[in-house]
Amino acid sequence: MVLVVGVAASAAVAAEKAGSIPTPRALLEELIDLNTTHAYGSTGAAKLLQERFLAAGFAPQDVSLEIPEDHPSKGNLVVRLHGRGQGRPVLFLGHLDVVEARPEDWSFDPFKLTEDGGWLYGRGVIDMKGQDVAMAVSLMRLKQEGYTPARDLIVAFTADEEAGGDANGVDWLLRTHRALVDAGLVVNPDGGEAGVKSGRKLYVAVQTSEKTFVSFGLEATDKGGHSSRPTADNPIYRLSAALERLATYRFPVDLTATTREYFARRATLEQGQLRSDMAAVGAGTADPAAIERLSAVVETNIMLRTTCTATMIDGGHAENALPQRARATIQCRVIPSESPESIEAALRKVVADPLVAISTITPAKPNPESVLTPAIVKAVEDTTHETWPDVIVLPEMSAGADDSRYSRSVGIPSYGIDAMFDDLDDGRAHGRDERIGVVAFQQDVDFTYRLMKRLAGAAGP
Ligand SMILES: [Zn+2]
Repeated sequence: MVLVVGVAASAAVAAEKAGSIPTPRALLEELIDLNTTHAYGSTGAAKLLQERFLAAGFAPQDVSLEIPEDHPSKGNLVVRLHGRGQGRPVLFLGHLDVVEARPEDWSFDPFKLTEDGGWLYGRGVIDMKGQDVAMAVSLMRLKQEGYTPARDLIVAFTADEEAGGDANGVDWLLRTHRALVDAGLVVNPDGGEAGVKSGRKLYVAVQTSEKTFVSFGLEATDKGGHSSRPTADNPIYRLSAALERLATYRFPVDLTATTREYFARRATLEQGQLRSDMAAVGAGTADPAAIERLSAVVETNIMLRTTCTATMIDGGHAENALPQRARATIQCRVIPSESPESIEAALRKVVADPLVAISTITPAKPNPESVLTPAIVKAVEDTTHETWPDVIVLPEMSAGADDSRYSRSVGIPSYGIDAMFDDLDDGRAHGRDERIGVVAFQQDVDFTYRLMKRLAGAAGP
């Protein structure tokens, strides 16, 4: 408790010294203390940031608080630093909402920033209020330094990225305030990743894409009857046989520009057989044995291909009746360039039974891969190597989803980039005792400042 009070006091003093810009630590403390879970919403946090940006010298017309009329608690803040008009703006995205946290599960109050043993604890420190702070103070610093980028630099702090939301800020802003957030390039730290393993900093990722998901239903039906008179047309058997064929099926290897580069670069972090297998995939020279070895490991298998797996099953209606119906849900995680129609066609072939009907339960939403341009890779490499010369930049396709799906679906190239180094074996985002290293946080603030300057400082399309 003493520690928390001490942090607040020193942060306030530091804020005063820096003039009208809060220290990263002080701003993080303010944001963590505001509960922005689904029930509370993000308007309070958006208003707090609005005040800080105005105090930092931004003109009111460049600090737009945008609140959907039908969702007053789901406010967003969009801040613009004007450039010289040499290309479309660079837009940084940061969600303000956090996942629920139950204080009784935590070692500290999740809605109070607490420092302990070199760590900062609090809900959202790594997903993603820490990054929100990094973007906010970097933009304020650029403003205070009188910096004019080549093109406009925009940061949107948005609502409702996490599950359970009903007013996603990025989606809403793109649909209703397109001019305010229109850009030629999006950076979304939420989709980024900076990996540490056994204390060694390994990579800063550039996420260009996400697998899309689509769910199908498989259904077998029959007229049924009394269980004392079994028939060969039992839908449970029919469905089981189809599922068994699916269980052993592997979609063909389908590498994208991103995953090919991922394997080539990832190889340099590995040893022995794994290293040569990954390098071979990256070079396009992998033999079936190498593919087999990589397919046997979940993490590499999902990078190689589309996957479909059974997630739910139900059937029958009485213990003494032949089933009239058996049904399974199949969820597929699809390589971005593949169409849902091609996945359905593949399923039909694997099921190989016209009496097992296939239907779409949840259709896929288009989410194209953003082109991994040499310019974006170089910008991230230069920014990374200024601090960590040995850390590689790793292109990534992620299996999960974030707000970049909205910007990608309207045609804005979007990249997940973040240098808040976190232990790959101890990920606590969404979990209990979410934390970030004191130094890692400070370094991410510094990285974000330099990345913003580098990207907005260069003319663009
Ligand atoms: Zn997040």
